[in-house]
Amino acid sequence: MTATAITLTGLGKSFGMTDAVQDLSLELAAGSFTALLGPSGCGKSTTLSMLAGLTAPDRGDIHFDGASILDLPAERRPVGLVFQKPLLFPHLTVADNVGFGLRMRGMRSRDRARRVAEMLDRVQLGGLGERRVGELSGGQEQRVALARALVLEPDVLLLDEPFSQLDTTLRAQMRALLRRLHVDSGITTVFVTHDQGEAVEVADTIALMLAGTLAGHGTPESFYTRPETLAGARFFGVTNEITGRTRHGRFSAPGTAIDVSTDLPDGDAVLVIRPEMIQLEAQAGVVDGRRIGRVVGARFAGTHVSVDVELGHHRLRVHHPAGRPITIGQSIGVDLRQGAYTVFTTTGR
Ligand code: ATP
Repeated sequence: MTATAITLTGLGKSFGMTDAVQDLSLELAAGSFTALLGPSGCGKSTTLSMLAGLTAPDRGDIHFDGASILDLPAERRPVGLVFQKPLLFPHLTVADNVGFGLRMRGMRSRDRARRVAEMLDRVQLGGLGERRVGELSGGQEQRVALARALVLEPDVLLLDEPFSQLDTTLRAQMRALLRRLHVDSGITTVFVTHDQGEAVEVADTIALMLAGTLAGHGTPESFYTRPETLAGARFFGVTNEITGRTRHGRFSAPGTAIDVSTDLPDGDAVLVIRPEMIQLEAQAGVVDGRRIGRVVGARFAGTHVSVDVELGHHRLRVHHPAGRPITIGQSIGVDLRQGAYTVFTTTGR
């Protein structure tokens, strides 16, 4: 099996007045593991369904390795599908569920039994082939669903919230298993989830969808350190937003000493910075982008102390390393180094 590159170009789908997916263009590299992330109703499942051939797009195209697949019916697309519910045949054994597609392809029973046994080993269900699926736990059922999809050696694996019905511990185990299977097979994988933590943990790249459109595509880290859109930054839980203006290549916020360079055009803007990206320094003095604020709150939060700092008219939340002394009321240097924050234009919004 060779890994397949996926290209979505101007993809769109409407249901009546609802634009479920709008002008979605996305390149997924061969062998990549992408989380299609976003809140409920943002169009993730519709996108996956168009990839699988279960929903026909109204606009745009989908290419696998440069060739359009839109004319291929679902059963001829080289994709494996795993849904939230495992959808197994209840009257068949585990092995017969996994081997069903191979039987349909006419594979001889001895070869089929060998392939199924190998696949069951890979999903850690070795020895359970003769069980009825009704005798399995939820996690085991989803392993069978994964095995059933992968045993056919598809070019692309599509998963729609596959672990959302499992408990937290089991979900973590299933994510680890899926990562291992991906590393072993190198199959191009698209994983739909609304859970930002799950996307960060399982995927190499994230495509963030908001209201039917793409709001960012990059590594999990880039969504924290270099968000592409303000909405994307908010989805990833940025808690500090400082409103101001850009003028002549500088962003400044009234009532603070914040004045940083930007390449945005003149207009209304907002600077966003995550609490863990701000450093507090005991020494006073405004040097090299450091400003003086006042500590107005501090609460121990396990791995860090959550500190509220007043900076002019604004209040910033800062994650300060636990164990470093901090006192309510003290003046403190607030370090907003270049690269730690992002400025977005809000003019015209
Ligand atoms: P969730 O995480 O809740 O499954 P989602 O991000 O996968 O959400 P979709 O299921 O793709 O979102 O739905 C996108 C929008 O399209 C929603 O407003 C939904 O109500 C609408 N929609 C999806 N399928 C249909 C359909 N068959 N008929 C009418 N509207 C639909």
